[in-house]
Amino acid sequence: MTVPVLLVLAQSTPTTDGSAPSPATFVEADLAAPQVSVLDLGVTRGDGIFESIGVVDGRAQALEPHLNRLAKSAGMLDLPAPDLDLWRAGVLRSIELAGDSAAASELLVKLVLTRGIEGGDDVTGWVLCFADVSHVDAREGISVVTLDRGYRSDVAETSPWLLQGAKTLSYALNKAALREAERRGADDVVFVSTDGFVLEGPNSTVIALIDGEYVTTPSSLGVLEGTTQAAFFSDVEARGGRASYRPITVDELRAADALWLASSGRQIAPVVSLDGVPVAQDPAFTAAAEERMLAR
Ligand code: PLP
Repeated sequence: MTVPVLLVLAQSTPTTDGSAPSPATFVEADLAAPQVSVLDLGVTRGDGIFESIGVVDGRAQALEPHLNRLAKSAGMLDLPAPDLDLWRAGVLRSIELAGDSAAASELLVKLVLTRGIEGGDDVTGWVLCFADVSHVDAREGISVVTLDRGYRSDVAETSPWLLQGAKTLSYALNKAALREAERRGADDVVFVSTDGFVLEGPNSTVIALIDGEYVTTPSSLGVLEGTTQAAFFSDVEARGGRASYRPITVDELRAADALWLASSGRQIAPVVSLDGVPVAQDPAFTAAAEERMLAR
């Protein structure tokens, strides 16, 4: 296991002598040493946002869509707009520092931005690059259970303060849902709305093949806009296939011709069973699509 690379956001410091302040930058930090205050709102309230970016053959996948989503999440949480040039440079620097690991294995780069210390003016941010991540098992197939999300499908419209569709640090319930899946003998989860629509996984986008078309839930239903699913749809359309965003009922999910959970790192993981019932497979298609997704 290679030691992860940590870069911490150093804020610009105002000067008193009229000289220009030093620009904000990411500086290399010791992962073993304390870096975040116990007063940080990211720690005490889960008040912040994050992104996880897959890196294949040293290339950060969907870097711009991830940065744009970071900015969108920041806007939804009324956080200061992140300086995307700075965050982009941080991502690229972390991959550079991963050195040989970047060529030898897949990496996962995590960006975290919190509201900072209670009462303070500065946000807290860091970039963490994990090496030696493996998604081989997931890409071979996952078992999934449906779990009630407890919200209607119009929650994003009726209750925007619930922050549906933002990638917040408050993932305790996403983790709880994954533990529930494990208790039920499954690998992962598809959240469904109280009015019977498919939402998303705790850390993935649902893609269903229905009547020859690849479909996914639109973000208007309060799901995160997936960068991996978007890349998959572009690939499908570039090859003359059909892909669309529309609400999917749970009944349609159960009758789908194939299902995948898409996420950075994992790419597209084929669902082999849903609530204990085997799901139809297209292994040749999945293998070829996974290869193209890895090569992008
Ligand atoms: N939906 C949720 C709730 C997620 O947390 C994630 C990723 O972590 C996704 C969807 C998939 O997004 P992406 O493909 O950009 O990783």
